[in-house]
Amino acid sequence: MTAELHKRIAVLGLLLATLLLTGCQPAESPLLERRFIALGTIIDITLYGAEAEQADPVLAAIERDFHRLHHDWHAWEDSRLTALNTALQRGEHAPVPAELMAVLKQARALNRSSNGLFEPAIGGLMALWGFHSNDLPDSVPDNDTIAAWLAGRPRMTDLALENGQAHSDNPRLQLDLGAFAKGVAVDRAIAALRAAGIDNAIVNAGGDLRAIGARDRPWRIGIRHPRAPGVLASIATRNDESIFTSGDYERYFEFEGKRYHHIIDPRSGYPARDTASLTVIHSEAATADAAATALFVAGDAWPRTAADMGIERVLRVRADGTVEMTPAMAERIRFETEVEPVVVLQELP
Ligand code: ADP
Ligand code: MG
Repeated sequence: MTAELHKRIAVLGLLLATLLLTGCQPAESPLLERRFIALGTIIDITLYGAEAEQADPVLAAIERDFHRLHHDWHAWEDSRLTALNTALQRGEHAPVPAELMAVLKQARALNRSSNGLFEPAIGGLMALWGFHSNDLPDSVPDNDTIAAWLAGRPRMTDLALENGQAHSDNPRLQLDLGAFAKGVAVDRAIAALRAAGIDNAIVNAGGDLRAIGARDRPWRIGIRHPRAPGVLASIATRNDESIFTSGDYERYFEFEGKRYHHIIDPRSGYPARDTASLTVIHSEAATADAAATALFVAGDAWPRTAADMGIERVLRVRADGTVEMTPAMAERIRFETEVEPVVVLQELP
């Protein structure tokens, strides 16, 4: 395991401990927990009121599924995705397994509704930035390299998905599912739990999660403070909800005194500006994951993107520390620390 992953996991361990403090019942409550590492983060599954005999087989199956998706969709280690990227680069009509095909179609739909701000065709640019590595980059690519990528800018709309095959006329199109894979995997895990008759659960992928069931009182979920250790705010979930956050603190490096993080604006080729973290609540995890990334990229224009993507509950911490949110989010959130001015948007576009 790399130094970077070690560090992230140490931080996450603390964060998850905080979440469980705010989210769970005392020790005698009927909770079952399973924890493992996949998709570059800690996956933590908490069940309420399930028997171990009933839960163990489905938890084992979910763990296997996460590991398989980790390997199949890896953006830089040999995987089904890198094989597909190589074929796309050569201009081939590449066969795509049915499961990946469904995910690519879902990604293309979310790319459309976000007006291209959620852009999984961004793999080549992520590689230029040096983020396709287990270690963090230590320098910034030069302007000309980024300008050249922008000149031939690939988009999901360039990707033809027909008859079980993928093809692109733009050889720069390289897929990266990093903004979305965790959400897809979380939705799959929830579906598997439900199929096994488990109705009270949280599937938490490094602080991004989907919670189902009301148990005897709602799950209370902590949202990490983007600039301080601990929890900024908390939300009590209702029946079936996903809470996903994109933050500039997740993967970043500093170069000549400036922070460069891993959420890239496909319009500029540079890390998206002005947002420190952006949280959405939505029913499905895959949509919530893609939307958190898209609204992060949108910057000050996030209300427009939220409306386009059908996202009603949004919390944004600007890079200057001010907090903005939709009225529907304001109804649900409880701040756990003092925050800078809070702006509740009264009218959405
Ligand atoms: P995290 O995974 O840290 O919670 P995100 O869900 O926002 O954060 O995912 C960031 C990852 O998404 C990056 O590491 C990269 O793989 C990919 N990515 C970066 N910028 C974009 C973008 N504009 N659209 C789609 N994917 C992106
Ligand atoms: Mg995301």
